[in-house]
Amino acid sequence: MFDKILIANRGEIALRVVRAAREMGIQTVAVHSTADADAMHVRMADESVCIGPPPSPQSYLSIPAIISACEITGAQAIHPGYGFLSENASFVQIVQDHDLTFIGPTAEHIRVMGDKITAIETMKALGVPCVPGSDGGVPSLEDARRIAAEIGYPVIIKATAGGGGRGMKVAENAGQLDTAFGAARSEAKAAFGNDEVYIEKYLTTPRHIEIQVFGDGKGQAVHLGERDCSLQRRHQKVFEEAPGPAIDAKTRAEIGKTCADAVARINYIGAGTIEFLYENGEFYFIEMNTRLQVEHPVTEAIFRQDLVREQIRVAAGLPMSFTQDDLKIDGHAIEVRINAEKLPNFAPSPGKISQYHAPGGLGVRMDSALYDGYSIPPYYDSLIGKLIVHGRDRTEALARLDRALGELIVDGVETTIPLFNSLLAEEDILTGSYNIHWLEEWLDTHLG
Ligand code: ADP
Repeated sequence: MFDKILIANRGEIALRVVRAAREMGIQTVAVHSTADADAMHVRMADESVCIGPPPSPQSYLSIPAIISACEITGAQAIHPGYGFLSENASFVQIVQDHDLTFIGPTAEHIRVMGDKITAIETMKALGVPCVPGSDGGVPSLEDARRIAAEIGYPVIIKATAGGGGRGMKVAENAGQLDTAFGAARSEAKAAFGNDEVYIEKYLTTPRHIEIQVFGDGKGQAVHLGERDCSLQRRHQKVFEEAPGPAIDAKTRAEIGKTCADAVARINYIGAGTIEFLYENGEFYFIEMNTRLQVEHPVTEAIFRQDLVREQIRVAAGLPMSFTQDDLKIDGHAIEVRINAEKLPNFAPSPGKISQYHAPGGLGVRMDSALYDGYSIPPYYDSLIGKLIVHGRDRTEALARLDRALGELIVDGVETTIPLFNSLLAEEDILTGSYNIHWLEEWLDTHLG
């Protein structure tokens, strides 16, 4: 096992990794920008290294600075958290070239899954169900017209290099195709410097269901069920739950086995998430995230496992500490993402926290790097905390969420907490009847 690991991240996820490492008796090194000198992850880690000025490209994304920090402190491995360098294949290669261990998958797996077309081709070949669409990139408008007619409207045109929901355009019918195709290409070019696009059948009312997988890198892999993350605003998840209200045990076992078998066959190592759209009882692969997800705590809650501990174990060459048979679902968990944002427009609201009080009690977990007097810097993501509740069933989890939100105090900045109070009064939320459009439509009528 490692003696010391470096965490190439900030905020709640850096703290999350520090906590797992400390329980394993591993020393931690925090890295931080000058804007984060007083941040909680810096205070909680055993050591810290300032790696640059506030803008991420000069600090949290600076590979030379991070590698140097490892060399200075003698850290043997790097946990990337999520975002930043977590899905950067060349970073993984550089880490290995310096005889350090990357706590995550191989550069090759990151590369394959990072390109949408190779990801889809790989998953298809591994027996994972995909969205009907073009086989690879669509070079011309004539090709686009032919393929769209074959798969049937509506279709969605997506950037091969896409991410963050950019470079995607829907065409409801043939009349809209020319404009949608052109717009998707130019948006892709502007956002990613690559105008290649592909076409998929557009699913009108799907849910977003993702399967958590975990591999040992030696051909063994398990699944830890699904998360329903359909409640999204601008493709950003807002509220996540596990198990999914629309998924029964048989469906879970089937899609879970398909996913676990797929990653076992490619000797995948560590945590990964296979994301699907789910409509009329069918799963359609959209992408694989080769890292820990923001919403991993709902899975940890219902399976009573520590996914970060497990990531560190397999990265150190140890076997997984559970088999598929050990993984039984216990109850229901919900996570809400607390952002420093001002409603109704979700404008970033950085600033000084005058008062912070985290909720507690049975079945409540607050993952946050806030403290009284902390100043949220304006340079980074607006996520300031995740409130996770666990109950014996969904009804209990919802009641617990309501209770815990009532205890949570974040004063000094605007937050998304009031959104969750409102959502908990909605019949559709209480019954779990929502799809990927539900939240946008609700926001239009209630906040718009
Ligand atoms: P990105 O990597 O840019 O986030 P994804 O492929 O993960 O792109 O898609 C993001 C979101 O776009 C999905 O969660 C879903 O809401 C919507 N979407 C993508 N593909 C389809 C499709 N074929 N039909 C309907 N909605 C889609």
